[in-house]
Amino acid sequence: MSVNTVSLAAYLIAALLFIRALAGLSRHETAVAGNYFGIAGMGVALAATVLLAAHDGISALGVVLLVLAVLGGASVGLWRARVVAMTQMPELIALFHSFVGLAAVLVGWDGYLSVERHPLGPAASVLRVEGTYGIHHAEVFIGVFIGAVTFTGSIIAFLKLSARIKSAPLMLPARNQLNLGALAVFVGLTVWFIAHPALLPLVIVTLIALVLGLHLVASIGGGDMPVVVSMLNSYSGWAAAASGFLLNNDLLIVTGALVGSSGAYLSYIMCEAMNRSFISVIAGGFGIEAPSGAAQDMGEHREVSVAETAELLADAGSVIIAPGYGMAVAQAQHGVAELTRKLRDRGVTVRFAIHPVAGRLPGHMNVLLAEAKVPYDIVLEMDEINDDFPATDVVLVIGANDTVNPAAMEDPGSPIAGMPVLHVWEAKQVIVFKRSMASGYAGVPNPLFYRENAAMLFGDAKDRVEDLLRAI
Ligand code: NDP
Repeated sequence: MSVNTVSLAAYLIAALLFIRALAGLSRHETAVAGNYFGIAGMGVALAATVLLAAHDGISALGVVLLVLAVLGGASVGLWRARVVAMTQMPELIALFHSFVGLAAVLVGWDGYLSVERHPLGPAASVLRVEGTYGIHHAEVFIGVFIGAVTFTGSIIAFLKLSARIKSAPLMLPARNQLNLGALAVFVGLTVWFIAHPALLPLVIVTLIALVLGLHLVASIGGGDMPVVVSMLNSYSGWAAAASGFLLNNDLLIVTGALVGSSGAYLSYIMCEAMNRSFISVIAGGFGIEAPSGAAQDMGEHREVSVAETAELLADAGSVIIAPGYGMAVAQAQHGVAELTRKLRDRGVTVRFAIHPVAGRLPGHMNVLLAEAKVPYDIVLEMDEINDDFPATDVVLVIGANDTVNPAAMEDPGSPIAGMPVLHVWEAKQVIVFKRSMASGYAGVPNPLFYRENAAMLFGDAKDRVEDLLRAI
């Protein structure tokens, strides 16, 4: 059997393993197995690629570079994955996407330098004989464009998610025209490059795409960042698929298409869940008006003590807990699980209300609560529990903010207007666990904190929950 046949078979097996991985990751019971399928697929893919390179007569220097790159990349990847806190996961993912984008740009440029730059050279001649010379130009150009947009877009997403820059949307006056103009120039340059594959259009498109990626993500506000991360995930898939065409690597095309289409679908369902227009988010906030930004006087907030909260819970028949990013930061989930057990032992009905974008990654709260052994059947999705708040005695909001903000429903000028939220304020009493009156990720003030039936229990969520456990 030839090496080519073996590697083709290996690629097919790897592609099937990747599909099994995606299927496994769609449910938490099968997620761990899904991860193992993905790791196995990647192992098979790497081995087959190295085998192919060896068969194609890779030079000694090539082998050294390959080993160094694999060892270097694998050690950095292992180290980051071990030390990263769950709350920093989205920013790490955004950074990884930027590498995929950069790789696609480099592959595209390498394609140009080894083929189009030498139109009479052997590589170009082979493509001419095959009749794919013109297609190669298009592959180079489109690959560089998607890669560069993904690269800078992901870096901005990383900076926003890690709070190194403000998450508020950049509202340039003619931003929609700028984006549309950049796309029109890209189409024009593609036609030019296919007709005359020169250096100048490639340089211009690289620069335009770098700026476009930066602008697209900078224009999107904090509350829409979850969709942006999954959208960049999708772009990175298409960038990888473009590289696959250039490198003539079927597995890269299949894998890129899997990532691209699953990322696009995830973005779509997240937009549906958050009542956002899919087109407006992928077009960098197209059609979204700048928020008015007018400061509102919301009145006085009320503080509550641990002892008063314990008393309130002692009299309650039904309690709903709405966890958010602050519970993850404080690592308060074990205390919250213990509190749940204690209350349930006393006959109180306790349930959890999970907002689709609570925390910093899809399913963040479900993972934390599962880790703390909270039974699945009392952990309900927003749509399943949102109508039950009026019949609830006490709601404990633990480190959540944007996901329980009534301004999303009541203030059409709010940057999060239209986003579905948990109707916690409809309960008889709401206790909010957080450290200060600061706003949440989207940077929007929260009128919930000033409602008559709401009170603040200030401090680190883990400490306050433990105080509460002692008081009960
Ligand atoms: P928010 O980010 O809106 O608010 C979290 C609150 O937790 C803060 O107001 C903070 O207030 C409080 N907090 C932080 N640390 C602690 C602590 N140690 N103890 C107690 N409280 C603490 O959280 P939500 O979960 O409600 O909303 C998620 C937001 O993140 C949404 O805007 C969403 O769009 C965005 N997002 C979600 C992603 C996802 O996929 N889920 C990905 C990217 C962004 P204080 O400082 O006063 O303590």
